[in-house]
Amino acid sequence: MSRTSWWRVLAPLAVGGAFVVLTALERRRPLRRAREPKWRHVSRNIVFAGAAAATVNLLERPVVEPLAEVIQRRRYGLLYACRLPPRLHFVLAIILLDYSLYVWHVLTHRVSWLWRFHLVHHVDRDLDASTALRFHAGELALSIPWRAMQIAAIGVPPNALWSWQNILLLSILFHHSNVELPIGIERLVARVVVTPRLHGIHHSIVPNETDSNWSSGLTVWDYLHGTLRLDVPQHAITIGVPAYPTSADVTVANCFALPFGAQRPWRRFPDDGEPEAHGHTRSVNELAP
Ligand SMILES: [Zn+2]
Repeated sequence: MSRTSWWRVLAPLAVGGAFVVLTALERRRPLRRAREPKWRHVSRNIVFAGAAAATVNLLERPVVEPLAEVIQRRRYGLLYACRLPPRLHFVLAIILLDYSLYVWHVLTHRVSWLWRFHLVHHVDRDLDASTALRFHAGELALSIPWRAMQIAAIGVPPNALWSWQNILLLSILFHHSNVELPIGIERLVARVVVTPRLHGIHHSIVPNETDSNWSSGLTVWDYLHGTLRLDVPQHAITIGVPAYPTSADVTVANCFALPFGAQRPWRRFPDDGEPEAHGHTRSVNELAP
């Protein structure tokens, strides 16, 4: 078997193994207290994962994989214009895919018709590795033109695209997980990549906390854009979206329909109250070095 073929076999095993290990660790070292029974939460999110996987395989792959081959053959895009050594081209393609995903993530919150779909990911009332797989199939379908633009503008060859997709899956499983890492280790890791505590702040019900920590891989994009928040302790965070606070709000049926119905003002509770922002002081600055 060639090296490439080995990677093709090992990558899905690594992703599946990461999900199993993180889910086991969530039982032993939970970071935040769960609000819903674990089995119900995970099984619901696996239904979303199934629809998401079908969308990726039936709609996204037939577009992006042939596109990356055309881009490589015809040497289109920024990195091909720079005539870089192949390894540098490969690494920069992955870094630029990560940055352009940061931009896409901001857009899914800022553009109202994209937010209708991304909201389904955020209404989850607990955050764990299964939330990493909870995306509305519509959000994944709507991301295909953006993905095609990323590939064409950057000049992403098929091997870089495939590697990034697998790295991204591992990264989102890790930072959505509800695993309490030793704080000293997480402080170090969070300087480079997104960690569970960092991403927990993005899933807070407090809107100005949701509006932070948009990165999905490297944290450098939040540093550069001034959108990094380190100062919210996990015990102070309630996960979810204020307008959708109950278990009934987050069921599979209600959430598949959510983007298509009338939208509640998401920043406020149904009784019109607002979630209170946490008082931040250096003393609770958990992740600051
Ligand atoms: Zn988000």
